[in-house]
Amino acid sequence: MSRNPTRARAGGWRARPLAAVLLTGLFAGCAPPATAESNPPSAGATRSGSVASTPAGPVRSSPVAPPPVSYPADGGGRWAVADGEPPTAAGPGRLLRYRVAVERDIRGLPVADFAAEVTRTLADPQGWTAGGAWRLRRVGPRQPADFTVYLATPGTRDVLCQDTPDGYTSCRNGDRVVINVARWVKGVPDYGASLAVYRRYVINHEVGHRLGLGHERCPGRGRPAPVMQQQTLGLHGCTANAMPYLDGRRHSGPPGSYADPIPPRERGRPG
Ligand SMILES: [Zn+2]
Repeated sequence: MSRNPTRARAGGWRARPLAAVLLTGLFAGCAPPATAESNPPSAGATRSGSVASTPAGPVRSSPVAPPPVSYPADGGGRWAVADGEPPTAAGPGRLLRYRVAVERDIRGLPVADFAAEVTRTLADPQGWTAGGAWRLRRVGPRQPADFTVYLATPGTRDVLCQDTPDGYTSCRNGDRVVINVARWVKGVPDYGASLAVYRRYVINHEVGHRLGLGHERCPGRGRPAPVMQQQTLGLHGCTANAMPYLDGRRHSGPPGSYADPIPPRERGRPG
């Protein structure tokens, strides 16, 4: 099964979904529990949302509007791949190498900016590497990788995820960690935390699936939501939380998911 999604980017991947379809059941992610057994160990999907901002303009003290991010509902499946980061010292834990790719139809969000945010999240002291089981390192386009983090248009999200094609959530499918650009730009309603927090959440959630983790539920009203809870679809009494570790301890909840409805699929966002 294998999927090397990057290979897909040559343009042929839209023609390949056949193989992927066969795997659908295995990888269906955070999609709605309609079909699902609540938490296959390898499932995953979330949502995201946000926008990068780059100040510009001569007046230093004036507020700076972020550049608009625009995208079509269905992109062409062509990718800009970020450069790698310098190798770090070897440490404990299994090394997983990841690429970061942004669909070329997404305007106003340079791949370097998205990659920096992904890497900041994955390198955070409260991130997945905190327990010492894994090391995560971003590699460049021509280096071997264990998985790829894609920022994709809603339509391409469906193609890559090969699950219920909702055009709304993000997902993890094999070695593809797929972030829906609409969630990255807009977040989700009533999340109760900033877009920056939601973005970190969605990265950690989908990468958590790639590490073999399934969905979890809210452990108690007023407590932080586990990062493997489907926070995109509802907090169920928990508060928003983006990180797998809190105060140095792994924060989790009981296994399982909720039958939350998924909002309508996303359209494009004109520039
Ligand atoms: Zn999920």
